[in-house]
Amino acid sequence: MGRTSKDKRDVYYRLAKENGWRARSAFKLLQLDEEFQLFQGVTRAVDLCAAPGSWSQVLSQKIGGQGSGHVVAVDLQAMAPLPGVLQIQGDITQLSTAKEIIQHFEGCPADLVVCDGAPDVTGLHDVDEYMQAQLLLAALNIATHVLKPGGCFVAKIFRGRDVTLIYSQLRVFFSSVLCAKPRSSRNSSIEAFAVCKGYDPPEGFLPDLTKPLLDHSYDFNQLDGPTRIIVPFVTCGDLSAYDSDRSYPLDLEDGSEYKYTPPTQPPISPPYQEACALKKKGQLAKEICPQDCPMSTVDLLPQ
Ligand code: SAM
Repeated sequence: MGRTSKDKRDVYYRLAKENGWRARSAFKLLQLDEEFQLFQGVTRAVDLCAAPGSWSQVLSQKIGGQGSGHVVAVDLQAMAPLPGVLQIQGDITQLSTAKEIIQHFEGCPADLVVCDGAPDVTGLHDVDEYMQAQLLLAALNIATHVLKPGGCFVAKIFRGRDVTLIYSQLRVFFSSVLCAKPRSSRNSSIEAFAVCKGYDPPEGFLPDLTKPLLDHSYDFNQLDGPTRIIVPFVTCGDLSAYDSDRSYPLDLEDGSEYKYTPPTQPPISPPYQEACALKKKGQLAKEICPQDCPMSTVDLLPQ
């Protein structure tokens, strides 16, 4: 694949590099903010599942005026430093990470918690949706410890079969819950974002990190009556915004020639690092299947 082939296919990928964002996801948060004014009055925020850090970039630039806000970013993976962003490397589903995050907000709660967490997708939809729901609920659990009353929570959600249960659980804690799909999120993806405003836990609710929120005794398909919540679905991003499912020509509107932009911040220790090093040395094993060789005896040969 050529250096510019992804630039050709994905306009938001290209724009992210040109505008200095570490990932195209930056546009999702920006378009969500355009629609819901997420950053209004926000000075303290938590970015869960933050690597490589484009949401943290947006947060640190947009909140508190001139970057004086306080952002805590958390991810399993190491992330290159960002000015004004405190980083924690850890698993948000683990008690120890949750405690570390909460520690930073004791006595001074956060106005906004965002989570763009995604598990490594397996392709088995039920498993992927379940893992995604667990991440969201881990994020919600952390939010219940750090959010101030009236605070806002935004989290990636997979609009799968059991999404109603998640909406119902979110509605227990927030006065308004809706599902939003920014223009920069591909239509072909089941991803959307739960936008929850007005943190207002039930009276007597005591946040408890040891209590998992996903209750396995629920029969997910039997939610009805007051437990069946249908939330509004909102698309966001101006209609003139680029459509993430289309390809756009590389030539610029002013007629000037397109120039390749390298990524703003390449991953610092990606899982494929070793393979890239081997490829540079021409030592990467290559899968070959000779014409009359049965698939079961596929060989691995050096390139
Ligand atoms: N919002 C980020 C940005 O704008 O740069 C992109 C986030 S990326 C789509 C999803 C991230 O979720 C990955 O970096 C992954 O490491 C992180 N993640 C997945 N499971 C996690 C977990 N249990 N704890 C912490 N991070 C997790």
